[in-house]
Amino acid sequence: MATTTKSPASKTATKTAPASATKTATKTSTSKTATKKASGMTGKMKDSEFHEFFVDGLKDIYWAEKHLSKALPKMKKAATSPELAECFEKHTVETQEHIARLEQVFGLLEEKAVAKKCEAMEGLVKEAESIIEETDKGTMIRDAGLIMAAQKVEHYEIASYGTLKTFAEIMGHTEVVELLNQTLENEKATDVILTEVAVASINEPASEE
Ligand code: FE
Ligand code: FE
Repeated sequence: MATTTKSPASKTATKTAPASATKTATKTSTSKTATKKASGMTGKMKDSEFHEFFVDGLKDIYWAEKHLSKALPKMKKAATSPELAECFEKHTVETQEHIARLEQVFGLLEEKAVAKKCEAMEGLVKEAESIIEETDKGTMIRDAGLIMAAQKVEHYEIASYGTLKTFAEIMGHTEVVELLNQTLENEKATDVILTEVAVASINEPASEE
């Protein structure tokens, strides 16, 4: 997740008072947190740095999903085995659902759905494209390579949604947590299916080519 936003922790660290004043400073910050928590405002405030950091992460994965939705049909077309092609076709539809869910999330947060370029997903898709270029059409080696590329993508998504979900939890955005969790579970299931397809029908024939 690429971002230039300073974490709240680093800001606090910069502001740390000299050793002699530490005790007083700690006391003050604790009571401030308590007040915020009591009023239910912790991190929820639209102008809080943590909220901004969270929304930045959502913009990143929104771009990633959109980019992926264009790459998956190409991966489907390039796949040798019908099982893998079907897998990519199914996940293309699911990826559209992931995009729609993120738009719902932006709506719930009263934020504009803006995509912010995700360098990581751009790189992962490039890797899938080079596998297609470097392998012969109709081979199982191509499928083995495509599965490797696709699983790297799924793991990136799992890491992103996992973190974003915990951010939403800490801020008390219950509906957002539910939406992010639905996508997270689907990414995990996709990763498992890819392993199953590889083991059941790809890796062995690929090793014999
Ligand atoms: Fe996704
Ligand atoms: Fe995915």
